[in-house]
Amino acid sequence: MDLEAFFALHCDLPREGPGTDEATREAIRRLPPLPPSPRILDLGCGPGRQTLVLARELDASVTAVDLHEPFLLQLQKAAAAEGLSDRIVIRQQDMGSLQDPPLSIDLIWSEGAIYNLGFANGLRTLRSLLRDGGILVASEATWLLENPPVEVAEFWQQEYPAMTAIATNIKTATEAGFEVFDYFILPRSGWEEYYQPLRERIEILRPQAANDPALARVLAEHDREISICDRFGDSFGYVFYMMRKAKN
Ligand code: SAH
Repeated sequence: MDLEAFFALHCDLPREGPGTDEATREAIRRLPPLPPSPRILDLGCGPGRQTLVLARELDASVTAVDLHEPFLLQLQKAAAAEGLSDRIVIRQQDMGSLQDPPLSIDLIWSEGAIYNLGFANGLRTLRSLLRDGGILVASEATWLLENPPVEVAEFWQQEYPAMTAIATNIKTATEAGFEVFDYFILPRSGWEEYYQPLRERIEILRPQAANDPALARVLAEHDREISICDRFGDSFGYVFYMMRKAKN
């Protein structure tokens, strides 16, 4: 995919994946008590809606990590507007090769981003950063039907062949050294907070795409994804997996 065209579309959107502030709060309500002044990482934070909710609800400092600097600057601006600047630290880094000391982190959060490392590989990589009993919360696209219709199966086979079912992800997490102490499915209505602004931005860019083949391709790919979500939204969903680092 042409990155310039991709980021022309993915620019100044409130979110970079399905999710809601309420779903973030729901996951926070399900957390066990954290130590005082917890060390918290939000990985693949994007524009950082969930970072702001974490900082506010947990009344704690959150370190937000992403590769794409404009997202981090968007978060920084939003944090200033909401009076949360002193609780949010941004770091432009690869979440797959963090230099934080082993066993130093109390809570790792990652909404719609652990797929960047692969679910299993991501869990194994991040586990060493967590203190014993530390918590990892990740939302991940997941099959909800065992036998989805062919069209949606083929779409995800192309886009994210590693996508699997809840039970398989729980098994993967267990094998990676975590106990899945809770999980929940993002309500279908929560997808709109990502897809509606995306739809509007696609329409704004549509005229420009007439003379820009790379942009036209990116818009077409997103049109396809939106259509798949609209028509097959019960076949798959976003699942919040809430995991505790198990003893070795
Ligand atoms: N959590 C955000 C963004 C999810 S989209 C939200 O829900 O809105 C995935 C994000 O991961 C993007 O912001 C992308 O820039 C970031 N990303 C992709 N690969 C990454 C990597 N290796 N390290 C850190 N961030 C990465």
